[in-house]
Amino acid sequence: MEGIDVVSEALADLHRRLLALDGGAVADYIPQLALADPDCFGLALVSLDGHRYRAGRCDEAFTLQSVTKPFVLALALAELGAEEVGRTVGAEPSGEAFNAISLDPVTGRPANPMINAGAIAVTALVPGGDPAERFARILDCLGRFAGRPLDVDEEVYRSEAETGDRNRALAHLMRGTGALRGDPAEAVETYFRQCAVRATVADLAVMAATLANGGVNPVTGEAVVPEPVAVAVLAVMATCGMYDAAGEWMLRVGLPAKSGVSGGLVAVSPARFGVAVHSPPLDSFGNPVRGVAALRELSERFGLHLMRNP
Ligand code: GLN
Repeated sequence: MEGIDVVSEALADLHRRLLALDGGAVADYIPQLALADPDCFGLALVSLDGHRYRAGRCDEAFTLQSVTKPFVLALALAELGAEEVGRTVGAEPSGEAFNAISLDPVTGRPANPMINAGAIAVTALVPGGDPAERFARILDCLGRFAGRPLDVDEEVYRSEAETGDRNRALAHLMRGTGALRGDPAEAVETYFRQCAVRATVADLAVMAATLANGGVNPVTGEAVVPEPVAVAVLAVMATCGMYDAAGEWMLRVGLPAKSGVSGGLVAVSPARFGVAVHSPPLDSFGNPVRGVAALRELSERFGLHLMRNP
């Protein structure tokens, strides 16, 4: 990008204009998420030299939900390698909703790790002697991506645990097909806790920038995951990160990205920066309305599309 003032101005301008954008609905199938303020809107960008740019409400913590999926995939890949992870989950866009029952009829594997089925299976792969240890590793890893320790919103966790029957059903189906290791109930509880990890949009931008920087956190300097792992995660985000809007997203924005039902969105410009948006109202694909609009504009204005001739 063209320097500090241009970036800050662009974010401030997007914030001002897109705050007025109507449309979308705050997710309510997890009752606690329905309490979110639909006007909460923040944008943050972290460059690879560790510069932070921001506009709007960037210090309000929210649960990351599906935005955790690429980072936990990174942990599993770093611990187990691509072959082992690939035996459990595919890397093909499902073309279906995030909660789809998308299991390959031959292998029994979920289509990819960015939808719920695949993410539950990946969470269960994370090594740990018991569920508490497995979750501690996940929380620690998410914190290293963010550059500070993160915690769990216990109310959102409980709210999802009380209502998450579809995810429980997915876990049992995968146990049946052989895609899920261990106890399905434990796998889903760990996954619910992972989804309830909270962070700010400023944290999320650092997490995205760590992927942009080959797995090295540009703020703390820590190598969180090896570079090939960061590349693999970005590839999966590019093809599967925006659910059944992934094709349109690649066409219009052209960056690896991941959204979540609480309104978080991360996008990565490899070797350049990470960007994050938080705004709860979602479109019919489950992607945040303001986040999608903001990234479309940013990509167009700064020529960020990956297929573009620089
Ligand atoms: N915890 C949510 C669920 O499993 C995450 C989904 C999402 O963010 N898209 O339903």
